[in-house]
Amino acid sequence: MPAARQRLTPLPHSSASLQISSDRQGQALPAVSLPVLQTQIRACTRCEDAGHIPEARPLTTGDPDARFMVIGQAPSRTAHVTNTFYRGPAGERLRAWFVMAGFTEADFGTRVYLAAITKCFPGRLPGSSKDRLPSKAEQALCRPWLDQEIALLQPRVVILFGSLAIQTFLSKDPLSGLVGRAFEKDDRLYLPLPHSSGASTWLNDAGNRALLAQGIERLREARAA
Ligand code: SF4
Repeated sequence: MPAARQRLTPLPHSSASLQISSDRQGQALPAVSLPVLQTQIRACTRCEDAGHIPEARPLTTGDPDARFMVIGQAPSRTAHVTNTFYRGPAGERLRAWFVMAGFTEADFGTRVYLAAITKCFPGRLPGSSKDRLPSKAEQALCRPWLDQEIALLQPRVVILFGSLAIQTFLSKDPLSGLVGRAFEKDDRLYLPLPHSSGASTWLNDAGNRALLAQGIERLREARAA
């Protein structure tokens, strides 16, 4: 079925917010609780079985009562080794942005659910220290897990961390037109943030860093709402 076109309409209450039509409404709830689903996810070996990765070690962290959900690209090598989500250099920067928005370290895993487009470390690009982007095949294998997490959690606010998550859930438009704004879709708020990896040059631009500051402010507003 072809994806519905996204329609962007300014919301009346905030010039920084947009509304998007959706093609993913009406999704049926999984027949298990979120903790049971998380146990199923942690036992998943689909990508290892298919030969995409040498070792599946899925990460999913979060309380069923969390109302904020982070969706990133995939666990980092640090996350893979330590078995803790968003604890590499990029993850620590993301956590710092949350603290700037008023969250505490204790909120991660309690108020803030941690997820990603794929839940296993994809490995490095050949001959590079950069992480490999999960392939379309890996994304497709993992997507049902993420969809079930969202259906069970029903987060009020989804923070899309990096281009892959933003393109998957929001728009393929340039980041400079998205970061710093809030988008309403399926009765929840989507906040796009750039990836904080040192491999990304987007934040080298002063104008883009100003957009990030606006994005953190949108997160502060969502926390206070
Ligand atoms: S990335 Fe997702 S689908 Fe692939 S093995 Fe890990 S949990 Fe399973």
